[in-house]
Amino acid sequence: MEEAMVAGGAERLRVVTIDGPSGVGKSTVSRKVAAALGWTYLDTGAMYRAVGVQCRKEGISLEDAAALAALLARLDIRLLPPLHESDDVRVMANGEDISAAVRSPEAGMMASQVSALPAVRAKLTALQQAMGRAGEIVAEGRDTGTVVFPAAAWKFYLDAPPEERCRRRVGQLRAKGQAVPDEAAILAQIIERDRNDRERTIAPLRMAADAVLIDASNMTADEVAARMLAVVRQAS
Ligand code: C5P
Repeated sequence: MEEAMVAGGAERLRVVTIDGPSGVGKSTVSRKVAAALGWTYLDTGAMYRAVGVQCRKEGISLEDAAALAALLARLDIRLLPPLHESDDVRVMANGEDISAAVRSPEAGMMASQVSALPAVRAKLTALQQAMGRAGEIVAEGRDTGTVVFPAAAWKFYLDAPPEERCRRRVGQLRAKGQAVPDEAAILAQIIERDRNDRERTIAPLRMAADAVLIDASNMTADEVAARMLAVVRQAS
């Protein structure tokens, strides 16, 4: 198979996975790694955010399994390349551009809630696997190395303490011109999302056994990306 390589005796997909908790800098690093390789960046979190935003918009209760199933059946999520290289991917839901709505801290919390639901994970995991089938993908999320692409050739787990991640997130929001009056609330959200993501029963956030762990605390995004690219290029 053209898109597969052989590593450790098993066929491996030409896919890089980058998992880790919220606010650790995965998106920036993933974009840089994808750009350097000339591969496609797959932002799986944006897809969970899109489902959260649509549930809120349509007033669907997460306990209402039938309404949720109906929403998922008619929900067409598309990720489009950003207009500028440093921007987030654009997110379309049923033809409507919801890129701005998916990036709010509230959308992150909604994503964290909907992502624990089996029907949501089943739909998005299948979609992500279809997007990655041809290889040459840098997939970023919580379970891309463990569940979505267990056969990926290069897996990374990026980590940093919650306080450090809060500091970065506040900086990002301010850089986008958003007021952040309550930093403690951002830290509380990060800790709550960590707990939701690690403790859910399906596809919890955890490091794949064959992933490379990188502590991002004292590294710039460029340094993290360079370390990942060195690993990828060494074994290509
Ligand atoms: O990475 P991002 O902050 O955009 O993800 C939003 C939420 O979507 C996460 O907190 C997590 O609950 C969920 N998610 C997930 N699995 C992924 C990606 C994101 O459960 N692969």
